[in-house]
Amino acid sequence: MTDKGIDSEDRAAALAAAVESARPQDRPSPVTNLFGLDRAQLRAAFAAMGEKPYRADQVMQWIYRRGQDGFDGMSNLSKDLRARLARHFEIRTPELVTEQVSTDGTRKWVLRLDGGNAIETVYIPEEGRATLCISSQVGCAMDCSFCSTAQQGFNRNLTTAEIIAQVWFAARTLGGDFHGQHWKDRDQPEDERGGRVISNIVFMGMGEPLANYNAVLPAIRILLDDFGFGLSKRRVTVSTSGLVPYMDRLREDVDTALAVSLHAPDDALRDEIVPINRKYPIAELLNACRRYTAGKDRKTHIVYEYVMLDGINDRPEHARKLAKLLAGMPAKVNLIPFNPFPQTRYRRSSPEAIQAFAKILRDKHILTTTRKTRGDDIDAACGQLVGKVMSRQKNRLGTRIGDVPVTTA
Ligand code: SF4
Repeated sequence: MTDKGIDSEDRAAALAAAVESARPQDRPSPVTNLFGLDRAQLRAAFAAMGEKPYRADQVMQWIYRRGQDGFDGMSNLSKDLRARLARHFEIRTPELVTEQVSTDGTRKWVLRLDGGNAIETVYIPEEGRATLCISSQVGCAMDCSFCSTAQQGFNRNLTTAEIIAQVWFAARTLGGDFHGQHWKDRDQPEDERGGRVISNIVFMGMGEPLANYNAVLPAIRILLDDFGFGLSKRRVTVSTSGLVPYMDRLREDVDTALAVSLHAPDDALRDEIVPINRKYPIAELLNACRRYTAGKDRKTHIVYEYVMLDGINDRPEHARKLAKLLAGMPAKVNLIPFNPFPQTRYRRSSPEAIQAFAKILRDKHILTTTRKTRGDDIDAACGQLVGKVMSRQKNRLGTRIGDVPVTTA
């Protein structure tokens, strides 16, 4: 949307849509959480109030660059505007339920949402980067058999505000760089940045992000916006179990980095481990991956996540099949040692099996990494900590594969 030429009907419709998308789904709120509005939506909301669009940009800078969560401190806005904003809007993060800190620096937060639901957000500092893993749904309907979150079933989608609030909460908790250096200056030595920063965001927490597309898309826009968190596209990764139609939409709309949860080299095994495969089998999924990277520079690749399950998908023949599947594609395989959780029937592959698997792939010229296990001394499996804190009604994909709950823009 441009600054000019917004007629009043468009304004009203845009404001209504923006306000609706920013509200918690299970508790109508009289005010709108500004974490839920991307710049176009915020400008539309300001236009509907008779304010100039640049005022919306100023408010975004206060929130995302300077860490303001109240209107009083927004000193370049008039007193009258600040009062009107306070009547219609809020800047609100979820409440912290519990925090676990690993000896390796990994931090896991459980955050309580409106309606009593809880989600996980995980901070993973590494040499030269710091990644925040965020959730997009409460629970998940995809029912991947190795996943702790899947054990809780699907509860509801997060709003855009609830997705963005995780990032803002983490940055503030970590003493991030709301003041001074922006996150884009991550290449500078840490002590010159004025605090630890988050350099990468991955949608790899609870939920299937592409099944909540209408809330995830504006959230990505805020992450990428210079008036928001100002991250580059390659620093934001959306991970999907393979919702093929939305992979095409994502490429068209924001074109972030993409990770695909593959976990098996043939349909028979993947049908069992990742049930969405019964709807979008491997050939269809890989065609969508080819479309995603078509026309991009040679360095752009998709990361294929492959959890290593002892005796299930970790044999040499699986590695050979996988190499054949990905031959000639711009691909990187990330082998993930399985994180056991209570009630799982799986075990982690041995280090020897993982090394042998990686060697077969590398010998076939497939770029391969093995994820370092992190947070082993805390509840590291995704969804594990929330699973302990909450108990949830189950609503799983396995019994209704033709009816994947997806919300679209
Ligand atoms: S692995 Fe991801 S898509 Fe699969 S059930 Fe877990 S959260 Fe959902």
